[in-house]
Amino acid sequence: MSDLIRLLPDSVANQIAAGEVIQRPASAVKELLENAVDAGATQIKLLVKDSGKTLIQVIDNGTGMSETDARMCFERHATSKIREASDLFSIRTLGFRGEALASIAAIAQVELKTRKVDEEVGTSIIIEGSKVKSQEPVACAQGTTIIIKNLFYNVPARRHFLKSDNVEFRHILEEFQRVALVHPDIEFSLFNNDKPVFQLTKGNLRQRIVHIFGSFINGKILPVEAKTELVSVIGYIGKPETARKTRGEQYFFANGRFIRHPYLHNAVVQAFEELIPDSAIPLYFLYIEVDPSTIDINIHPTKTEVNFQHGQLLYASIRTSVKHALGMFSLSPTIDFDTEPTFDFVAPKGYEPKEPTITLNPDYNPFKKPQNFLKANAGMTPNRIGWEKMYEGIAGQTEGQERNDENRDFQLIPSSQNDSAPTLIPENSLFEANRLFQVQNRFIVANVKSGLLIVDQQKAYERIIFERISSNAEGQAIARQRVLFPQNIQLSAIDAEVITEIIDDLDSLGFEISSMGGGTFVINTVPSNMPSNEIIDFIDSLLEDYKKDRANSADDQRIKLARIIAGNMAVKTEKTLKVEEMQQLIDELFACQVPEVAPDGSKVLKIIQVQEIDKLLR
Ligand code: ADP
Ligand code: MG
Repeated sequence: MSDLIRLLPDSVANQIAAGEVIQRPASAVKELLENAVDAGATQIKLLVKDSGKTLIQVIDNGTGMSETDARMCFERHATSKIREASDLFSIRTLGFRGEALASIAAIAQVELKTRKVDEEVGTSIIIEGSKVKSQEPVACAQGTTIIIKNLFYNVPARRHFLKSDNVEFRHILEEFQRVALVHPDIEFSLFNNDKPVFQLTKGNLRQRIVHIFGSFINGKILPVEAKTELVSVIGYIGKPETARKTRGEQYFFANGRFIRHPYLHNAVVQAFEELIPDSAIPLYFLYIEVDPSTIDINIHPTKTEVNFQHGQLLYASIRTSVKHALGMFSLSPTIDFDTEPTFDFVAPKGYEPKEPTITLNPDYNPFKKPQNFLKANAGMTPNRIGWEKMYEGIAGQTEGQERNDENRDFQLIPSSQNDSAPTLIPENSLFEANRLFQVQNRFIVANVKSGLLIVDQQKAYERIIFERISSNAEGQAIARQRVLFPQNIQLSAIDAEVITEIIDDLDSLGFEISSMGGGTFVINTVPSNMPSNEIIDFIDSLLEDYKKDRANSADDQRIKLARIIAGNMAVKTEKTLKVEEMQQLIDELFACQVPEVAPDGSKVLKIIQVQEIDKLLR
């Protein structure tokens, strides 16, 4: 038999390996920025077009490369940063695997121009799919310019899996910020489709943070410092009031590399104990320095997890230093000279605060016959199982009268004529109010023909709100209220991108939000029934949930948002309900198209059959 195993040609091997290192435009951006930093640049410029899909260009004024190195750098495992295995324990550079440029060159059209300071002419190389197309001397500035065109041009499957420009650009922003936050002494700029996004001048760490996240953050961060013989931690944490429900600005860096570390994250959260609500996440920028030999940095370039030899010591150092910073803060006088213009609402000239206007249906009376309620909610059509037929019948129905509904089990027991119901109760309601009661402020229980109906109060609200806001798809205006003092919210560049992506859908769901630039957004209207003092928190949770959800499901974006909004609006409903409130909730629930299923797919209600009750009590 003939032998079958063959060595793959380099171009093929590189293309396969490239998939591991370069997953999206942002991965290429990360590698190129890190190379520029490693080359000692003091100015680094990043230009992208179409969120990096068509062009990524990095220009640096670092050491540059010789003619031979310019050719060599595209070889796999070609690096100037380590020479032997033992060097792995003293790594100070960001790169060391020598894989990035080889990977990029395998899956894109790459142009490199580079010149060393002591050389008169530089080198220009064009390489495509690992094949060198040309190499010639060129006159160029000292340093390196690298242009990546049409990433994945020869791997259509990969290209196909790229996300929208918004999403890909957000990943690029993330990588850019992670590098820029470590090197305040380097000038960084970022242009997207020729528009400047960041122009970060040289400064100290605080200035860099402020440049990136906006001036509002300046008065809101506190310095942290802890130094022991083995570990050092410096950086900033946000004052307790900056803690948000949404994950945003949580940055750990270890020896200059962005890392994620749930254990150390917990150390920060622990230090904030009691100062912030349970679900809130404090913001922090913490820079850890340890001896390179005590850190397992030999991890995959696309991974951000790291093992520390002195993890426990780090935990203690972080917890103590953060607590200390918070303690200093609360002891120090509260005179605050910081002005944070973006956080206060500055009324434009001639602006007069108006009473909030609430758009609502003047005919709506919760205690009126529910039929009217149905008409008032024209967007809602009676649900498919035809409950309303059953419902209509009730008025004339007398005790013992059998109704058969094969699909449903709501054969209701009407109260007998001489039952005296409280006057507030709608005469024609589905359930007699005096037969409704509440359990644990969470469930409403009602007596139905076949047993016991249990309704999850919160899920019922979610269903109702979900249908109320999402059924307005066809151009109908949703009931919304104008907020008395339009509220400003300051978002990170990434969250600003997220909100821009969904701003139109939010508008159709009752949230009119406009951008003021620089990551500041104004919330002008919210859906009616929403308490306006909770808007900022609400938007935070909404963004957080949306970010989480976005990756998971393929639902329509607007429906997804409606579900998230319903979930968040209904959260605050764990409360004692008056009888007529229960009544109204149940009526509204059964006016929904799909009363039995919550927006997240779980059950809103359940009937425990009499037989089951029998069994339980046997
Ligand atoms: P690594 O960074 O892991 O060494 P890369 O593939 O990213 O591997 O780069 C290969 C080599 O090319 C680097 O070791 C470095 O010597 C050289 N190089 C890459 N980018 C630059 C740059 N911007 N300026 C100077 N040298 C560079
Ligand atoms: Mg590198």
